[in-house]
Amino acid sequence: MSSSDWSGFDVATQAVRAGQVRSAEGEHNDSIFATSSFVFRDAREAAARFAETEPGNVYSRFTNPTVRTFEQRLAALEGGGYCVATASGMGAILTLCLAVLRSGDHVIASRDLFGSTVSLFTKILAKFGIDTTFVALSDIDGWRDALQPQTKLLFLESPSNPLSEVADLAAMVELARAHGVLLAVDNVMCTPVLQRPFEYGADIVVHSATKYLDGQGRCIGGAVVARDEELYNQLFTVLRTAGPSMSPFNAWVFLKGLETLSLRMYAHSHNAMALAEWLQTHPAVIHVYYPGLSSHPHHDLAARQQRAFGGIVSFTVQGGRRQAWSVIDATRMLSITANLGDTKTTITHPASTTHGRLTDEQRRAADIGEDLIRISVGLEALEDIQADLARGLDEVAAAPLKTAHNYAGGG
Ligand SMILES: *Cc1c(COP(=O)(O)O)cnc(C)c1O
Repeated sequence: MSSSDWSGFDVATQAVRAGQVRSAEGEHNDSIFATSSFVFRDAREAAARFAETEPGNVYSRFTNPTVRTFEQRLAALEGGGYCVATASGMGAILTLCLAVLRSGDHVIASRDLFGSTVSLFTKILAKFGIDTTFVALSDIDGWRDALQPQTKLLFLESPSNPLSEVADLAAMVELARAHGVLLAVDNVMCTPVLQRPFEYGADIVVHSATKYLDGQGRCIGGAVVARDEELYNQLFTVLRTAGPSMSPFNAWVFLKGLETLSLRMYAHSHNAMALAEWLQTHPAVIHVYYPGLSSHPHHDLAARQQRAFGGIVSFTVQGGRRQAWSVIDATRMLSITANLGDTKTTITHPASTTHGRLTDEQRRAADIGEDLIRISVGLEALEDIQADLARGLDEVAAAPLKTAHNYAGGG
């Protein structure tokens, strides 16, 4: 079956089955085609493959069967379209930009993007005459006001990280269509199991496969999925020529990750919801940011647009950096790392890590306080995650005044 034949199936089925092509050996599991090049039956076939007048493998920078299976499976999961797999999530976003932008073009992007994505726009693409305006994710008037005649691309991440703001995808598509610009959605946080931007009419979906698609913290990879074949051809040309390619081994690991994606995304969401509700009741916690909570300003939108609320929970504690760090340092099981989307629960202090290079003013604008902690909720038992957090939180709750006098930083 080709990837399009899987369109009538549920995501859980697509995640296990779509894209597989068995070799003559009849292997049950996907095989790894660890080969850099491919041989041809004769000189005529070699010429036809190079000229692209006949389909077939040439060279693993741009044609590898294991990578192709991953591409077809991910495209099926996103609800159709055409996928280019890349060496990393950043490689995916760069491939997209090289494919659709040229010098003099303008991009509008949401302000709370992944840090390296911001740097890609401001430090690298800016060198080539591509200008980016950043606006608040949910400020639709801000996006409209930022439009220029040279605007080519709207780029957003929803929900945002770490505060889980949610973009109104239908409204963003309407804006993009009305002005003839492309809309790209970074779907890392939800994955196609929880959100399919193509259902709303988005043109492009980008992924860091490093996060939930692998889901077990093993490999770096990424992907761009385009709804339209012409756009795909532009992406493929960049991949073929510039070479930010995914390795067959990593593609195979991601295929194994995808098989459990649906199970994992609902399990992450279930744990995260329960953890967010528990955090809300803790006396040391001031505010919990999780779109599953009815207190979240975008709860209704997230409930309409997503099948569940995802695995990222952020919260503020009484005090500031000192208290936040003490909660992090009191954990014994949680992993202190900025990575996310793993079976292992991770904990991080955004203001001094992922958002550490922002100016105080930028951090204030983005609402990233010194008192903020972000959890990527894993698949351990909820009680054990809670117990690990309770140790530090109970201490903060027991000594609020003593510690509040000493806190360093803004919060
Ligand atoms: C991690 C991440 C990226 C970049 O992916 P890499 O695989 O690390 O290059 C892009 N966007 C989001 C939302 C991410 O979390």
